[in-house]
Amino acid sequence: MSSPDAESPAPRTSNITVRRGEPLVVIENVDKYFGDLHVLRDISTVVNRGEVVVVIGPSGSGKSTLCRAINRLETIDSGRILIDDQPLPEEGKELAHLRADVGMVFQSFNLFAHKTVLENVTLGPTRVRGMSRKAADEKAMKILDRVGVANQAKKMPSQLSGGQQQRVAIARSLAMDPKLILMDEPTSALDPEMINEVLDVMIGLATEGMTMIVVTHEMGFARKAADRVLFMADGAIVEEATPEQFFTNPQSERAQDFLSKIL
Ligand code: ADP
Ligand code: MG
Repeated sequence: MSSPDAESPAPRTSNITVRRGEPLVVIENVDKYFGDLHVLRDISTVVNRGEVVVVIGPSGSGKSTLCRAINRLETIDSGRILIDDQPLPEEGKELAHLRADVGMVFQSFNLFAHKTVLENVTLGPTRVRGMSRKAADEKAMKILDRVGVANQAKKMPSQLSGGQQQRVAIARSLAMDPKLILMDEPTSALDPEMINEVLDVMIGLATEGMTMIVVTHEMGFARKAADRVLFMADGAIVEEATPEQFFTNPQSERAQDFLSKIL
């Protein structure tokens, strides 16, 4: 978590401590089926600490399933996923801690509708991390301030704009001091004028060294923030490249075809 690493601490501008370059997520030969549908095909990749990986690809290519598998919202049928050298826990307290260590931000925000913004952010730290209410409140207010919604803390999610709600969802993940944040099309449900306020927060996190796996078709974000682009099609990683390489010189026909449709 946020405890400084004894070997190579690299404190940055926030509470995020990173050791850039070491493997954090190791995905090896992962296969996943939904019935007869082979949705993840022999997926292997490594995400290092501090790395920002953008996952891109046509609808139905398995991007969400891959994200969900990484924090065990989905099981896998073969292969393995390690976080910090540990296989994903199956249940109980360990699973709750995994979900805290691996933040997830969804397209549809998924805030608790019957809780205030502040409560949305303090719930995990008090329940899973065992923080006192007072400490959790203080921490939450700092994080809400950082994502620019501290003045909304007492409101209910439904009183906020989509962009504000998504920033609260990011704050909720951050409050757990995650090792990694997964974002699955975090700006796809937003009105155009709200996309940038969320992308700005995401770019800030990337700059500070947060490890992130982000499913997005926002090329501006990929170019600015991503270390690597994974292009998926039909459940497989078809291409893996820097954003520069990928957008200017995609190698596979699938990627060329996809880019010609979205650019
Ligand atoms: P993407 O996020 O790239 O659009 P998904 O990972 O959501 O792709 O889906 C990959 C494939 O798996 C799609 O064909 C989708 O219809 C199918 N799928 C996703 N979730 C389920 C499920 N719970 N049950 C059955 N099929 C599913
Ligand atoms: Mg999806």
